Amino acid sequence: MLIPHDTRIALDTVVDLMNTAPQGNRDDELGDLPALRTFVQAHDISDVGRLTDHDLRAVQDVRARFTAIFAAPDARIAATLINQLVAAAGTTPQLTDHDGYDWHVHYFAPGASVADHLAADCGMALAFILVAGEQERLRRCEAPDCGRAFVDLSRNRSRRYCDSRTCGNRLHVAAYRARRKEAAG
Ligand SMILES: [Zn+2]
Ligand SMILES: [Zn+2]
Repeated sequence: MLIPHDTRIALDTVVDLMNTAPQGNRDDELGDLPALRTFVQAHDISDVGRLTDHDLRAVQDVRARFTAIFAAPDARIAATLINQLVAAAGTTPQLTDHDGYDWHVHYFAPGASVADHLAADCGMALAFILVAGEQERLRRCEAPDCGRAFVDLSRNRSRRYCDSRTCGNRLHVAAYRARRKEAAG
């Protein structure tokens, strides 16, 4: 599956956004404006202007929509949710070859709010995964105490754990066992 650089970045962003949500004994990591500012800077979301409480609530709402898309039981339901999300964001597809990248499309409208920016670009990245018939790559970590979202971009779609420090370790152990098994078989 060939994934353009912006799609890959958008997939990282959507996963990071979803994983700020409170879960188990983890607090909401996007609970106030300073946290939103940090998120916007860390993910290089350009041109979003001065952030307000309205932006914070809108981003939390978009986050919940992404969570629902990952939880969709089939592609039809996921497609409906993605369509609604992207339509509400008011996208303006623009071809660009900025910063030496090959031609690709930016979806957010000029001057879009941070929530609309995320909904448009991350929503289209998920649309791209669906078009490729790869909905099953939108996953949750199977570690019992984790449940973080991730996108499995492994060749054989075999990833079960996220790459957080604890789970990444399990991942290495599992990969090691698989290699041993392969070598033995
Ligand atoms: Zn770009
Ligand atoms: Zn995990």
